[in-house]
Amino acid sequence: MISIDGSHGEGGGQILRSSLALSMRTGTPFRIEKIRAGRKKPGLLRQHLTAVQAAARVCQARVTGDGIGSTRVTFEPGEVRGGEYCFSIGTAGSTTLVLQTVLLPLLTAKAPSRIVLEGGTHNPHAPPFDFLERAYLPLVNRMGPKVRATLERAGFFPAGGGRLVVEVEPAAALSGFELLERGALGSRLARATVSRLPVDIAERELRVVSKRLGWRDAELQTHEERASPGPGNVLTLLLEHEHVTEVFTGFGEIGRTAETVAADATQACESYLKRSAPAGEYLTDQLMLPLAAAGSGAFRSTGLSRHARTHLDLIARFLPVPIRVEGGDAGEVRLTFGA
Ligand code: ATP
Repeated sequence: MISIDGSHGEGGGQILRSSLALSMRTGTPFRIEKIRAGRKKPGLLRQHLTAVQAAARVCQARVTGDGIGSTRVTFEPGEVRGGEYCFSIGTAGSTTLVLQTVLLPLLTAKAPSRIVLEGGTHNPHAPPFDFLERAYLPLVNRMGPKVRATLERAGFFPAGGGRLVVEVEPAAALSGFELLERGALGSRLARATVSRLPVDIAERELRVVSKRLGWRDAELQTHEERASPGPGNVLTLLLEHEHVTEVFTGFGEIGRTAETVAADATQACESYLKRSAPAGEYLTDQLMLPLAAAGSGAFRSTGLSRHARTHLDLIARFLPVPIRVEGGDAGEVRLTFGA
């Protein structure tokens, strides 16, 4: 049984989620201690507990320590089974982070899956649905499996109530890919969404995008979300290049002005545009898991965050695959998986 230190590096929830994903993928049992020791409220929150329980369901694992607040879990995986699953977080916790836990093993399961996830779909510090659909899944789909995500209802903090459906057509094996250049710029789109809030919040956000990034009216869109049970606001900037689509997000919160929300997203987009590597900060975090599991492939990244470095260390605990990190200009790096 592998022993994982949950306080390593950033000491966040990623160490737990990726340990679960890799344990299921490799059939390796593990024990994790000091779960999320680097966070203000350590231990399992609702979202992390749902991730543990979801992982256990998908592979009939034997689990100990699966309770709210627990800082120690053991996980002994069984066989991964595709099928119909519904994981409901019960709070506004992030559905996409629960998906992050179970998707990797289901990509190569013997049967297809249909996964319904309920909770938050646009949470700060987690992949928003648009990022999942437009940035991450198209790259996963280059690896052999076919994954399709549908947003049935958006869910925002604190009301939650979002629902997404993910259909997975698995492949026998994962094949790596190379993502070294962005290719030509195709389209740009800024989408400002409000749920149960005045639409002028969205309009003010788009004015910031127009002023700071110079995007044209045809590239700016407001969207009123009617099915979500609570208030929410999110600004999504989509940059579609030939080989990669990147998504930058500003999350509305009580006490934050529309202009501040828009500044977050535009700043992230501007700093991506100043560089040439195709994978931004969050794609970098998330691509390393499937590519390491495939054991081949390479991508260029705008830089490695502490989160990404912690993730690389964790992956090395489960997989023998060599991962080479080579520096480029201004913090850009190239990651190569396999020999
Ligand atoms: P905690 O440590 O509180 O448990 P957490 O469980 O939310 O935090 P982290 O360890 O911080 O998890 O990982 C967050 C995940 O969400 C990472 O995969 C990161 O790439 C992703 N992420 C965060 N913000 C964004 C964003 N704006 N767009 C896309 N992905 C994001």
